[in-house]
Amino acid sequence: METIQSINPATEEPIASYERISAEVAIEKVNNANDVFQSWKQQSFEHRATLMHKLADILEENTEEYAQLATQEMGKIIEQSRGEIMKCARICRYYADNAADLLADSPVETEASKSYVAFQPLGVLLAVMPWNFPFYQVIRFAAPALMAGNTCVLKHASNVQGCAYALEEMIEKAGFPKGIFANLNINSKDVEKVIEHPHVKAVTLTGSEPAGRSVASIAGKNLKKTVMELGGSDAYIILEDADLEEATDLAVFGRLQNNGQTCIAAKRFVVVEDIYEDFLEKFTEKMQSKKMGEPTDEDVYFGPMARVDLRNELHEQVEKSISQGARLVIGGEIPNRKGAYYPATILAEVAPGMEGFDNELFGPVASVIKANDEAHAIELANNSNFGLGSGVITGNKERGEKVALQLEAGNSFVNKLVVSDPRLPFGGIKNSGYGRELSGYGIREFTNTKSVWVE
Ligand code: NDP
Repeated sequence: METIQSINPATEEPIASYERISAEVAIEKVNNANDVFQSWKQQSFEHRATLMHKLADILEENTEEYAQLATQEMGKIIEQSRGEIMKCARICRYYADNAADLLADSPVETEASKSYVAFQPLGVLLAVMPWNFPFYQVIRFAAPALMAGNTCVLKHASNVQGCAYALEEMIEKAGFPKGIFANLNINSKDVEKVIEHPHVKAVTLTGSEPAGRSVASIAGKNLKKTVMELGGSDAYIILEDADLEEATDLAVFGRLQNNGQTCIAAKRFVVVEDIYEDFLEKFTEKMQSKKMGEPTDEDVYFGPMARVDLRNELHEQVEKSISQGARLVIGGEIPNRKGAYYPATILAEVAPGMEGFDNELFGPVASVIKANDEAHAIELANNSNFGLGSGVITGNKERGEKVALQLEAGNSFVNKLVVSDPRLPFGGIKNSGYGRELSGYGIREFTNTKSVWVE
């Protein structure tokens, strides 16, 4: 059997080895999750909520341990890893407190003596998840899925199997029935066999567009529902009435948080001509001042990327953008040190047709784009195959709201970076995927919306 290693991207040293499981063993775990489903679906919301609160307690009590694990495996700076674990606890509590209301029968008046819509669990769900928020991405799916009465199997990214097993363990420790949530440490080529299995009722994937296309087409062939949360090349429009101090603070944090590897990170900064040079100057100053270093150091602003191969691919994208006419303002060189480090990089005068405009740059690289005016900025923002997040920075909130409503994206924020919030739906349009996570919309994605009629 194949063994995979977790590698610390800050040092390139191995952390631990994990044995892959075969497709046959994965199917046993699916069967087990299906057995658990038969009793779990009968449990009350109250019982499920007690366990979900216990899971939140475990996350809060062991924040440091889980945060260190995430930082070791994928290089997130330690402060942000702690934030990720706390956010997981908040999601667990949100669904523990609200699932019963979100899934309550919804009465509909008809000629029947009684008619209503019920939301019933589907069964075993498969989640294919990425490494960039190794705890959060999984909890965002699992907390509503379990509260709705479903059971789960997880195919997590190969480089974060320590986090994957920690998730399995904490769910069991919280008192959920054994097998309700199983980590399938399989090769991605075996995902097809899991999707095909009749007990797997639906699939959710967060990750790249190619992974999404592959998994969605296998699921489609098997007539299984999918939710796809894929990449983005989010545009932030900076209008001439924006407070430049605030705009550049948001831009820097938006581009460097999670070492630049967030699907909803600000990636394309579309700046109107009048303030383009001033924005670029301030933005450059601030990006340059941010310290890159060991992610366990409390005083660094960003750390390494998650893997050396991903860093090298990003560098190729930067070089391609430059060869296509983008101007390198800062960064753009692979540092002479061990680890998957890449410096804070700014590409200016980026335009449609260039790599930094058309494709996702999943690392600490910002594309700055010049627009003639507001209308042109909106046109440039929407000139993308992606549509996940988007933003507008302006001194006039009403104007910002009007612009936000014209942006082709699943999330459009005014004077704030797009963040996920359990109370609001989260997801994309175009090649950023479909379906929604979080809120009432998210928990209902994996339920049977059943019409009930009593004559
Ligand atoms: P992938 O999308 O390849 O990986 C995400 C998950 O999908 C992993 O669990 C991976 O498993 C699995 N996977 C990949 N290909 C398949 C497949 N054909 N069938 C079934 N499962 C599959 O991300 P990468 O790690 O390769 O990162 C590449 C790029 O993806 C990034 O540079 C970024 O652009 C984008 N990305 C976007 C994310 C987001 O939040 N939207 C998150 C992560 C990446 P395994 O690890 O075993 O390959």
